[in-house]
Amino acid sequence: MSQGTVLVVNSGSSSIKYQLVDPVGGRAVASGVVERIGEETGSLTHTSGDTKVTRDEPIADHAAGMRAILATFEEAGPDLSSAGVLAVGHRVVHGGSVFSTPALVDDDVVAQIEAISPLAPLHNPANVTGIRVARELLPHVPHVVVFDTAFFHGLPEAASTYAIDRDVAREHGVRRYGFHGTSHHYVSQQVAGFLGRRVEDLNTIVLHLGNGASASAVRGGKAVETSMGMTPLEGLVMGTRSGDIDPAVIFHLQRNAGLSVDGIDDLLNRRSGLKGLAGENDLRGLHDLVAQGDADAQLALDVYVHRLRKYVGAYTAVLGRVDALVFTAGVGENDDIVRELTCAGLEPLGYELDPALNEGRKKQPTVVSRDVSRATIVVYPTNEELAIARQALEVTEAAGLTGEGSDEAPAATGHA
Ligand code: AMP
Repeated sequence: MSQGTVLVVNSGSSSIKYQLVDPVGGRAVASGVVERIGEETGSLTHTSGDTKVTRDEPIADHAAGMRAILATFEEAGPDLSSAGVLAVGHRVVHGGSVFSTPALVDDDVVAQIEAISPLAPLHNPANVTGIRVARELLPHVPHVVVFDTAFFHGLPEAASTYAIDRDVAREHGVRRYGFHGTSHHYVSQQVAGFLGRRVEDLNTIVLHLGNGASASAVRGGKAVETSMGMTPLEGLVMGTRSGDIDPAVIFHLQRNAGLSVDGIDDLLNRRSGLKGLAGENDLRGLHDLVAQGDADAQLALDVYVHRLRKYVGAYTAVLGRVDALVFTAGVGENDDIVRELTCAGLEPLGYELDPALNEGRKKQPTVVSRDVSRATIVVYPTNEELAIARQALEVTEAAGLTGEGSDEAPAATGHA
C-alpha cells in the first residue's frame, strides 16, 4: 500500500464531516466538522494533534464549507500539499441496485448517484453536493465514492425482497438495501483476524448500535441479512427512529390524526425511538433517567433491548451456527448495561456473557464472553473513516492512479 493519506468526506444536508486518515497506520491525522451550513450562524471545528481550532462564522453553502476546511488545513495544519493526499473518499448513503462496490468518481457516477436520490432524498443530494464541491477544489486527486449499501448488495433475494406486488416493487426500486454497510463489513472482517479465524469460515452477527442502529448476519464474509431496509428506518429501535412498525400505523395516522406524509416521515425518523418514548435519545441520559425511577425511560430501555434480543434470536436462526456476536458503535462499545441486557438469558442459544469482562467502556477489541460460550461475544470498535480510506485507496491503486501524493500534482486524466 502507498505511503500517504486519504481525505474522507461525509457531506450531510447542513454539515460536512471530514478526517485525514493514514490508511496504513490507521491513525486520524486530522479531523473536523463544518456545521449549520446555510444558517445564520455556522461553525467549523478542526483538530490536528494537540491543535484544536474553532471558528464561528456564517457558512453560506457547501462550497464555502469546503473552502473553509481547506483554509483551516493551511492555517492549522497539516499542510495538505505535503500530507501526500492520495485520494478523497466520499461516504454516500444510497447506492441503490447500481453500486455493489466503491467507485472512482467521474461525471457518470455522480449522475447515477443523483438518479438514486428518490430513495434517499435527504442524503444523496447532500452527498452529491459535497462530491461536486470537493472535485472542484481538489481537482488533481482521485475521488472515490464508498456506499453505505454496498456490503448488502448481494443479500439473498429471500432477505432483500418485500412481499408486495412485484411489478410495483420493481418499478419503484422497493426492496431491502441495508445501511451501515461500511461498518458491518469492516467489523466482520476485523473480528475474524482478531479471533485468529479465516473470515470465510466465520458466521457473525454484528450489532452496530449508535444513534442509528442496525444488525447484520454475515456468513463467511458475506452479508445474508440486515435489519435496515429500503431506508435506514427499518429494524432496531434507534435514538430518534422507530425501527420496525406496522405499515398500517401510517395509514391510520394519515386518515385519523390529520398528519401529512411528510409529518409522519418526521414523526418516525426524528421524533420516535428512545426520544419519542422517553424524551432522551442518548443512552447515557436514558440510564440516568432510569436510575431516577422514570417509568417512561424504563419502558424505552425495555423496548430497545427487547427488539435487539428478537434480532439476535432471528439471526441465530438465519445463520444456524453463530461463531461471533459483535457489539460496535457508540452504544455497543460503551454501554455495558445494554450488552448485558441483550445477552441475559440467551445461554441456551449459545451466548454466555462474562459480567466481569463485560464491565466498562471498550476502546480496544475485547472478548466479553466466558470460555464455555458457543459463540464468542466481542466488542469491536468500528472505524468507518478508516474503512472508507482503505477502500478509496484500493480503488485508486487498482486504477493505477496513486503515486502523486499531492493535491498539486498533475490531474489524472478523466478523473479530475
Ligand atoms: P454513534 O452514532 O456511534 O456516534 O453513537 C452515539 C451514541 O452512543 C450516543 O447517542 C449514545 O447513546 C451512545 N454513547 C456514547 N457514549 C456512551 C457511553 N459512555 N455510554 C453509553 N452510551 C454511549
